[in-house]
Amino acid sequence: MPCPLLRILILASLLAGAAACSSSDPAPGLPATREDNLALGNPSGAVTDAAQYNNYLLVKPQYTLSYHRDRGTPNWVSWHLSSAWLGAAARQDDFRADNTLPAGWYQVQANSYSGSGFDRGHNCPSADRTASVADNSATFLMSNMIPQAPRHNQQTWASLENYCRTLVGQGNELYIIMGQYGKGGTGSAGYYTTLNNGHVTVPKRIWKVIVVLPNGPNDVARVTSSTRIIAVDAPNNNSVSPNWSTYRTSVDAIEQATGYDLLSAVSGPAQSTIEAKVDNGPVQ
Ligand code: MN
Ligand code: MN
Repeated sequence: MPCPLLRILILASLLAGAAACSSSDPAPGLPATREDNLALGNPSGAVTDAAQYNNYLLVKPQYTLSYHRDRGTPNWVSWHLSSAWLGAAARQDDFRADNTLPAGWYQVQANSYSGSGFDRGHNCPSADRTASVADNSATFLMSNMIPQAPRHNQQTWASLENYCRTLVGQGNELYIIMGQYGKGGTGSAGYYTTLNNGHVTVPKRIWKVIVVLPNGPNDVARVTSSTRIIAVDAPNNNSVSPNWSTYRTSVDAIEQATGYDLLSAVSGPAQSTIEAKVDNGPVQ
């Protein structure tokens, strides 16, 4: 047993350490803010130039995406999620064409998926944008949709989306990037490669990358080699498991499958470490 004086010195140094820690780490319960939806980087180098018709950058207040004119879907959609985006606005259900696409491009319509056996699957979910009617309504633009097998949408993805909001309720803010690749999926009416007279391509695989940070400032700089990253890649098939955790993978694997550079704004050493990991944390 150390003498009383030594014990006091040890206690004092522990307290000093705790104080130093709390001044550099954001305290739990710090107020949530809204941040740039593309803060962690532009995965495909998309630009707002109609000549880039297969990688066209669309920036909205509620989310940022790369649009593929000839697939009639986004390549990926990126958004920030914190409690600052959440409120009491009701689900608007006002699915509609995105008339901000360049003139002359085919605009996928609210009924373009009708009778196909695929859901109009949100990328940025309705329930992630409930602070105002305008925010929620923005998620119903068809440029935010993919043809998604109903079970994938209503079970697998719905439970992953709910888990994201659970993390937000625990004092975290998230950066989420969702995308898809390949051609051909199986909905409730069988296998299709395209819909709507070829204007819409049915993706083969659907993925999501979620970066979890405790609420705080300077998000990009706070992503370290120990930041939790949840990467998921699941088949667009109505026999998909409802358990999203079955489909956990690494960001590296998704980069390899898509050719994108995800999390490109994160410092090199942290980026390469977190991209190689497969999440094994809690799933609900
Ligand atoms: Mn959905
Ligand atoms: Mn990367």
